Amino acid sequence: MAGKGRALPTETDYRGLLLPASTRLTPQRRAVLDAIAARRSSFTAVSLFQVARRRNPGLGIATVYRTVELLRQTGSVRPLTGDARPAYVRCEPGHHHHLVCLACGAVEETELCGAPSPAELRRRYGFRAEGHELDVYGTCARCA
Ligand SMILES: [Zn+2]
Ligand SMILES: [Zn+2]
Ligand SMILES: [Zn+2]
Repeated sequence: MAGKGRALPTETDYRGLLLPASTRLTPQRRAVLDAIAARRSSFTAVSLFQVARRRNPGLGIATVYRTVELLRQTGSVRPLTGDARPAYVRCEPGHHHHLVCLACGAVEETELCGAPSPAELRRRYGFRAEGHELDVYGTCARCA
């Protein structure tokens, strides 16, 4: 989702990750958040689970999915589009897209955008656009 700044004061900031204010920070949840905060690349729920469980053996994968979902609600994490592997990236508010390296998983943000303008979509299709998602897959400068 692009173009919606959502850094509202009703959210709790934990290591740069925003959670809905009502979220209880249990040790299990903290272990998941720490695992996400350490990521500089795309990740899957299963890979988070494997890391966070080392610190918190009582952790269940349902808690991982639930925590990722809470972060998705605030825009701190976004699922990558258009790929068979369900993966997520850390995300900031504001309009940008992701350059995802298929070799190392690194994710870079870009403000470059080739999406059709809402005005043109309105004119040609009578469509009221509210946002768009675009991730670009390829090879990063370090892996090329
Ligand atoms: Zn992002
Ligand atoms: Zn790479
Ligand atoms: Zn865009």
